[in-house]
Amino acid sequence: MTALPRPPATTPALPAGAPAEAPQPLYDVLVAGLGPGGCAAALAAHAAGLRVLAVEARGPQATRSQLVLVRPGAQAALCRLGLPDITEGRRTTTIRHVENRLRDAIATAAEAGHHSPPTPGMPPPGPPLDLCWHTGVVAVAPGPADVQVTLRDEPGGAQRTVSARHLVDATGGRLEALGRPARQRAGPGHLVITAEYTAPPWFDGIVGVRDPATHELYLLFPTWGRAGVIAYFDTPPGARLDGATLARRFEAIAGQLALGPPRQPVEAIDVYQRRLARPSTDRVLPIGDAVGNVDVLLGAGMSWAIEDGVDAALGVAAAQRRPSAALEMAVTQATGARIFARHRAGSLRGRLMLAVRPLLERAWPRATLPHIGRDSLGPPPLLWPAVRFVFGRRPRAT
Ligand SMILES: Cc1cc2nc3c(=O)[nH]c(=O)nc-3n(C[C@H](O)[C@H](O)[C@H](O)COP(=O)(O)OP(=O)(O)OC[C@H]3O[C@@H](n4cnc5c(N)ncnc54)[C@H](O)[C@@H]3O)c2cc1C
Repeated sequence: MTALPRPPATTPALPAGAPAEAPQPLYDVLVAGLGPGGCAAALAAHAAGLRVLAVEARGPQATRSQLVLVRPGAQAALCRLGLPDITEGRRTTTIRHVENRLRDAIATAAEAGHHSPPTPGMPPPGPPLDLCWHTGVVAVAPGPADVQVTLRDEPGGAQRTVSARHLVDATGGRLEALGRPARQRAGPGHLVITAEYTAPPWFDGIVGVRDPATHELYLLFPTWGRAGVIAYFDTPPGARLDGATLARRFEAIAGQLALGPPRQPVEAIDVYQRRLARPSTDRVLPIGDAVGNVDVLLGAGMSWAIEDGVDAALGVAAAQRRPSAALEMAVTQATGARIFARHRAGSLRGRLMLAVRPLLERAWPRATLPHIGRDSLGPPPLLWPAVRFVFGRRPRAT
């Protein structure tokens, strides 16, 4: 690879109003978006020896409170990235915890690449990883040999254009607004609200209720170390509700259960599934939610984003080792097709999950929402055998 002048590890904000500059040095891969998928892609690409630029529109601190399952495939991918203990042997954690661990690992890699002097007697360090927070992708122009990507410094508005041989789109689908292929609806939607509270859990395991009249589910999970509670509210597919009304009902329940204020503002999300119609054919590889988001009941979106990230990085590394552009594109497209196939299968499973939701719902104790108290909530029988059946065995800490 040709040695090129490089920007610093954490690119400082450009002066406000500065004009877009001429193309900057070529990177092997630019990773757009540092959610779980983008973090995994950037770390794996860096470990594979590629020159990586990783950009994230927001700041380094992750804030999302969703409870997430870490599936065995993602656990294996995290082990490859040197994070074998992310759940300390548990099945679930919060997305905030996973993102913060991955972002810490990226920041360490970026720092190490730029500041450690070569050690005598040791192999030379690999190419550095450049990391830019508060930097959004605002234009993407794929060509036959590279992708021109325009970046905007979010607080200041200054823009610059960089080129990379591949772009990993880990923005959760936000590049659709820039003309990238749009994901299409793949199944019915339902409204979900989730919030984290610092009230200590008074229960063990998972508890919840279902409203037999509305078919709504309200579930509570203890957070790690029993430091708080995560609440989920789920409406059945097809329910005609507006998000604001639902959020008020959700807050009324929290008041009755004395959960205190939520850590983040409460918002109802329509979680309908979407996915791309076909795999990518150019140098832009979408991963994670940018390929397709699966139903939250499946508890797989974050895990697949992590698996995709490692898969995409290794695919890009393999593609770039090919001796011709034609072979490079063949390997790139095979990687995109593999990631696409994972999501196509996943969206079918998500639809199946929604189809069996009425059966799953019946397992929970009955109560009229929002008029519930702490005594109304309870676990369904056979919960853990069912979880093991659907989600696989508990990951082992290694
Ligand atoms: C209510 C709810 C519950 C969920 N529960 C689970 C669960 O239990 N288990 C599970 O596995 N998954 C769950 N998910 C899904 C999971 O959160 C997503 O599948 C996962 O976050 C996708 O990761 P990602 O890296 O593809 O994208 P995201 O996490 O969406 O990350 C995208 C990143 O890109 C950044 N970005 C956006 N645009 C730009 C741009 N133009 N330039 C630069 N950066 C940009 C964003 O700021 C963000 O940091 C849930 C989702 C919801 C909504």
